[in-house]
Amino acid sequence: MGRVQWLSVAVGCAAAVVTCAVAAALVARRASARYRWNRAVEVVRGFEKGCATPTERLQRVVNSLAVEMFAGLASEDASKVRMLLTCVDELPDGSEEGIYYAIDLGGTSFRVMKLELGSGSMVINKKVEYRPIAEELTKGSSEDLFDLIASALKNFIEREGGKDEGRALGFTFSFPVRQASISSGSLIRWTKEFSIEEAVGKDVAQCLNEALVRNGLNLQVTALVNNAVGTLAMGHYYDEDTVAAVIIGAGTNASYIERSAAITKCRGLLTNSDLTVVNVEWGSFRPPQIPLTPYDICFNVEKKRNHYDQAFEKMISGVYLGEIARLVLQGMAQESDVFGSSVNFLSTPFIFSTPCLSAIREDDSPDLRVVGRVLEEQLKIQDVPLKTRRLVVRICDIATRRAARLAAAGIVAILQKIGRDGTLCGTTNVRKIRGEPKRSVVAIEGGLYQGYSVFREYLNEAVDEILGDEIASTMYMQWWIDIKWIKKWIVRYF
Ligand code: ADP
Ligand code: MG
Repeated sequence: MGRVQWLSVAVGCAAAVVTCAVAAALVARRASARYRWNRAVEVVRGFEKGCATPTERLQRVVNSLAVEMFAGLASEDASKVRMLLTCVDELPDGSEEGIYYAIDLGGTSFRVMKLELGSGSMVINKKVEYRPIAEELTKGSSEDLFDLIASALKNFIEREGGKDEGRALGFTFSFPVRQASISSGSLIRWTKEFSIEEAVGKDVAQCLNEALVRNGLNLQVTALVNNAVGTLAMGHYYDEDTVAAVIIGAGTNASYIERSAAITKCRGLLTNSDLTVVNVEWGSFRPPQIPLTPYDICFNVEKKRNHYDQAFEKMISGVYLGEIARLVLQGMAQESDVFGSSVNFLSTPFIFSTPCLSAIREDDSPDLRVVGRVLEEQLKIQDVPLKTRRLVVRICDIATRRAARLAAAGIVAILQKIGRDGTLCGTTNVRKIRGEPKRSVVAIEGGLYQGYSVFREYLNEAVDEILGDEIASTMYMQWWIDIKWIKKWIVRYF
């Protein structure tokens, strides 16, 4: 071979080596990208596994909650589920008339309301105003908080052109309260984002009454109720077959009508009536069958108060669902580069709200446009590829599914506790023994439930599953929205 030929062979070899090196680098880069993608998928799979709620596990959750409810009725500290007695032994039946004012405090905002009622379950007039509560007021002094409410009420009454003379005020206060009478009760502890320590143990109705006086109002709290109890009253006002109420909003809770004889912790002391409304306070239930995942808020120790409490609430309700999803997204970003490098916002607690989560889960556009927009607007993450968007939808779905299915288990537990879960109605013989089938209405209220249709579907589906085909097929369910803020769920046994 001549010199020129050797040279061309050498050049050819060098080119082959370079090509090999480039190919190797490409393969390595692809392998590494695949590895990182797989890590992201692994995070989601781990979350999914941790959130699994197969039917039989839900049935055990139902039984556990029903047992806790029994224990809570037997003695004061026997259960984390407090089963608070409400001093309510009578509910409205639609015959009420007159003008009433009410305050609703229990979440990120409070409501001031004026209702004009006519007989026959007729709301002649209703005026509602929402007012936000600045975060510092949820952690400041009780005087500041109640002054804010009283002055808002004063402005509201003035604008309405109404007079406050001798008017009764309803106060819906959605935190655990030890009720001394229908119009007074001391705060047991704060939940959700509130933590005004000096208010714990105080009579919250009196706090509001004092603020009303300070603001020159001649109104008095005549009824202090939890929102779950308020919703039960509302449900009963419209439909006397209402037996329970469930709140699925910023927090979650339930109330129901119990036989007074079943309340063994203070038999005969509080009421002469056969029935008493119980405020379940199910938010503090810790379902033993459901493991906490590393992304559950209870694990997020460093910043939240009440962090190990309220497990049920922190797996279900609106304050927390978005935050759980954010923590999974953050975990995913740490494990891989699926979101690129602009992920600073992801580490801001509570930046990803539950309405964002529901918007993502309900996006049915083929290219998941809404998902892209929410990620961009809320988290400042741009140009997320379609397959990653799908992963984000899956995270939101997993958190939603577990939440809705646990809420369904809660509802069935109450129906079981009062013998309305249909288990005794499954056979013709039993039905004959029991006579007429009972109609039961559960009133459900709350922003999460109302604003998120997938949540409602999952909840509905899980109730069917838990009760089993045989019983579910004997039930007739109907949902409707006849009043703006309350939806009813009707169960009939045939
Ligand atoms: P509260 O009366 O306790 O303040 P609400 O019943 O008003 O609570 O519900 C507010 C909660 O509902 C918020 O925490 C929010 O996360 C949730 N929410 C409101 N709208 C939606 C929606 N469209 N999708 C999902 N969650 C929602
Ligand atoms: Mg509310």
